Amino acid sequence: MAKLYFHYSTMNAGKSTVLLQAAHNYVERGMHPYLLTARLDNRAGEARIASRIGIGQKADTFAEGEDLYAKVEVQLSEGPCACVFVDEAQFLQPDQVWQLARVVDDLNVPVMCFGLRVDFRGALFPGSATLLALSDEMREVRTICHCGKKATMVVRLDASGKPQRDGAQVQIGGNETYVSLCRRHWREAVGDN
Ligand SMILES: [Zn+2]
Repeated sequence: MAKLYFHYSTMNAGKSTVLLQAAHNYVERGMHPYLLTARLDNRAGEARIASRIGIGQKADTFAEGEDLYAKVEVQLSEGPCACVFVDEAQFLQPDQVWQLARVVDDLNVPVMCFGLRVDFRGALFPGSATLLALSDEMREVRTICHCGKKATMVVRLDASGKPQRDGAQVQIGGNETYVSLCRRHWREAVGDN
């Protein structure tokens, strides 16, 4: 039985590495995974999922308003599609998560989503909130804070290294950087005592 999976974590935990490894396992067995990533993210160049440890793979993209059920149907009409992998799944719209759930239920194709759980303000991304609600299985991709505790939060630093509390949830192409921290050190960084 196909399932909807959500692999969640904070920034820089190696989600894309886990995704690429899992997709590679399909390829090794002669099966065809279908890779998707968010179109708004051009960090790795257009339509490419890249890992910070240096591996990468070409991918199709999803954009706001696109019907992902229809997209997977097109894939299936053109050839085999053993599993759908979605990177940057926090950027899925809630409707698109439901479409992926229908891919699992009605097309019997497993869907593995990889994304951030919370943004730099400590709020759930809408895509992740819907995935937390609908997924059949959830797995945490872990990384650690500088203190050694599990990092569950992310702080956004502006160009001068100052932690930001407010601003748009999605900011692409700016000079800000993100650091993953445990909740205590996140609270300390953003001045929430
Ligand atoms: Zn810490």
